[in-house]
Amino acid sequence: MQDAYDIAIVGAGHAGAQAAICLRQMGFTGSLALIGDERFPPYERPPLSKDYLAGERPFERILLRPEAFWAERGIDLQLGQRVKAIDPVTKTVALSQGASTGYGTLIWATGGSPRMLSCPGAQARNMFAVRTRADVDKIIALLPGVESVAIIGGGYIGLEAAAVMRKLGKQVTLIEALDRVLSRVAGPALSAFFEDEHRAHGVDIRTGALVESIETDEDDRAVAVHCADGSRTAADMVIVGIGIIPQTGPLILAGAAGGNGVDVDEFCRTSLPDVYAIGDCAAHANPFANGGVMRLESVQNANDQAKIAAGHIMGGKVPYTAVPWFWSNQYDLRLQTVGLSVDHDAELVRGDPASRSFSVIYLRGGKVIALDCVNATKDYVQGRKAIVDGIPLDLAQLADPLVPIKAVEHA
Ligand code: FAD
Repeated sequence: MQDAYDIAIVGAGHAGAQAAICLRQMGFTGSLALIGDERFPPYERPPLSKDYLAGERPFERILLRPEAFWAERGIDLQLGQRVKAIDPVTKTVALSQGASTGYGTLIWATGGSPRMLSCPGAQARNMFAVRTRADVDKIIALLPGVESVAIIGGGYIGLEAAAVMRKLGKQVTLIEALDRVLSRVAGPALSAFFEDEHRAHGVDIRTGALVESIETDEDDRAVAVHCADGSRTAADMVIVGIGIIPQTGPLILAGAAGGNGVDVDEFCRTSLPDVYAIGDCAAHANPFANGGVMRLESVQNANDQAKIAAGHIMGGKVPYTAVPWFWSNQYDLRLQTVGLSVDHDAELVRGDPASRSFSVIYLRGGKVIALDCVNATKDYVQGRKAIVDGIPLDLAQLADPLVPIKAVEHA
């Protein structure tokens, strides 16, 4: 590692890697470090709960770039290095292995660490998050001896893991504390659809079930999950998907403003001089969030904020206004989400969920603000334009799958 870099990027995940790529594409010729605490070159995270977990895609095929790419572009990839402190006055970062390095500009792209349970038994050896390759490799290594899996958390990661586990022939129980799956990100129609799908595929879904303790054996292995309703779910392995905690500790300690994530402006600048933050850890005022400040946990946000920060460092003045989008694969279903359903006041189902190709459209004040499209790519593409246009549309036509969204008349 050099004594100092013109730009140091901390976090070699989606956002950090993309920032390094963009800087070189935009003609940045100075010294550039990409510092990450994982041992692996930057890789795609979405397959971790999808085809990588299923054993259908090897690690080499989820690398964001071939291994040689980084050195070829003059990007000093420093792996297995955790930044533990920042001094914004001397512009130095301290690393966990005792070294330190200076920076001209710092890009903080550290994502989040998985939230884990804190109940009795939560330290069991066979309880896993699904955040890193290392997490998933541990799951895969144990799978041959596993018959039953309890999955805690009915968000996208829990549901995707459930689909993969069923495909691998495991008995699956999915335990969700709230009264429906996906309640943080989608409306009741989509939740009901995915609950039905998973039940039809043999997943035992328990909603409104609050985990109270994990029963362990003498080897400190989880053998069952106990819930507040008195139920006991036997399991050979427990997977926990209950969200992330943004990794902003060193930045906040150094004086950056933030709470749930580190606060950034429309150019991804933090309150510290020459320090940017991007990706899952960056709390920003999103133009599609009805004035709300939020963190977005998506590849779209990681990539687009990386572009904005890199562009600003290179002297541009383009603010972050990208339309949010997301996808999830479960069984043969492809969900594509666009926009943000934050503060929607109406929800409209377009098409018949029983056909397994339909969309849920979220409205605020008669305007389309978001869509969840299940096996309905045309709706996704045309709905995106409706969100950007922001014009109230005829609701009867919008609900009619025979009328293409792009042909729906104004209200
Ligand atoms: P990350 O990709 O998490 O990268 C952050 C990196 O920084 C990590 O390697 C971390 O170990 C490292 N780091 C943290 N602290 C330090 C430190 N102090 N020093 C050095 N390094 C540090 N999004 C979608 O849009 N569609 C999907 O289908 C989808 N599926 C997903 C499935 C799974 C299993 C997961 C975990 C995420 C999924 N996501 C999906 C979300 C998406 O992967 C994230 O939004 C994206 O990875 C965020 O990028 P990031 O760079 O902010 O964080």
